Amino acid sequence: MLHPDRLFPSDPTQRDIARRLYGEVAALPIVSPHGHTDPSWFAKDEAFPDPASLFVKPDHYAFRMLYSQGIPLEQLGVPRRDGGETSSDSRAIWRLLASNWHLFRGTPTSMWLTHAFETVFGVTERLSAASADRIYDQIEDCLRKPEFRPRALFERFNLEVLATTESPLDPLVHHKAIRESGWKGRVITAFRPDPVVDPEFEGFRDNLAELGRITGKDTATWDGYLAALADRRLYFKSYGATSTDHGHPTAATADLSRPEAEKLFDIVRRGGATAEEAELFRAQMLTEMARMSLEDGLVMQIHPGSFRNHNDLVFQRFGRDKGADIPSGTEYVRALKPLLDRFGNERDLTIILFTLDEDSYARELAPLAGHYPALRVGPAWWFHDSPEGMRRYREMITETAGFYNTVGFNDDTRAFCSIPARHDVSRRVDCGFLARLVAEHRLAEDEAAELAVDLAYRLAKNAYKL
Ligand SMILES: [Zn+2]
Repeated sequence: MLHPDRLFPSDPTQRDIARRLYGEVAALPIVSPHGHTDPSWFAKDEAFPDPASLFVKPDHYAFRMLYSQGIPLEQLGVPRRDGGETSSDSRAIWRLLASNWHLFRGTPTSMWLTHAFETVFGVTERLSAASADRIYDQIEDCLRKPEFRPRALFERFNLEVLATTESPLDPLVHHKAIRESGWKGRVITAFRPDPVVDPEFEGFRDNLAELGRITGKDTATWDGYLAALADRRLYFKSYGATSTDHGHPTAATADLSRPEAEKLFDIVRRGGATAEEAELFRAQMLTEMARMSLEDGLVMQIHPGSFRNHNDLVFQRFGRDKGADIPSGTEYVRALKPLLDRFGNERDLTIILFTLDEDSYARELAPLAGHYPALRVGPAWWFHDSPEGMRRYREMITETAGFYNTVGFNDDTRAFCSIPARHDVSRRVDCGFLARLVAEHRLAEDEAAELAVDLAYRLAKNAYKL
């Protein structure tokens, strides 16, 4: 099912060049600097229970499409927050995916799943209602074998390093267990402080109290709160973290005076902040996080512009990350100015900007990253993590920011088996893009070959200090 020339340009000259370039990168190790896999998989190294638990239940790319066509999340085995009933019949869940496989035609999800079925589990027929049970049995058979346990797959995927993402309140027990197990796989954490820096995050006030409890700092004061965050950053660093991640609704930053910041903190910690005050507080916290990054060296990622949990009913029933996050327009030029006025010229600071708003690539992000030493542009993200999205990204970013103000690829996934597939798509699309530049005599092939390795491997390693 996987054609060796998939995703390469169909023009024969470009395709030949793309094949040669891809030959240089196809077997490189995978550096996965940002994602959301579950560290307990690698800590416990237990067999994945069944195909549906591996491919459907944790993957919002898979179940959002099915939900959009009217299939209830309960039928797909997505756990309910209130403990309400949800399907535990894995084979039935799998059959639902299989009989609706046509919904995924032309989508990256279908490419990723097909890649995983074939390269990981040796499946060579297309998923359909007719093949559902055969494929289910084949995958389930594999999952019982030791070579399909999480750690064995990690090694087989040739993962050099894999970052997960945790809240500052997470005690990192799984990372601790991985470290103490003596296993050589490098699974590191990343510091995602949204639950304690976003006054609109559910449970914010309790989260502040918990932050105080685990750090022994007085998080009822501005100074104590900042000290507690600095403390947790160091704790995360001790478990390998090299980055922070910030999932704010906008890219707003602020640089308030100390009395203003103290006053604002007092309002948010009491729980009475207006929407404007909450936004200003998040904005101030991005600048505070940049300041701390300059001190402790953690690379800062900003992932703005997602209207999270847009569907109230789904959020009430199932919680976060259920495929109900919707992109919105995002402005960077004015939003980032307060932070950049303070830290934009720092060469020892790396801030990686992501967007779900492609209008901002050529107009805002490439010019910003193509100027400020502290800024880099993150790869095509989420809804744009697709062959077309990657091509649009290269076309709109390269003219102003070049390749070296970008940071390689992020798979940003919760779906473990999609990692090799996603990196392979990115490598192929980048080789295709480079092949065009070579065919148009804008780039020598030896430069393209070096770039192909940079885009597939070195840039991520360097930007994320891995
Ligand atoms: Zn992410």
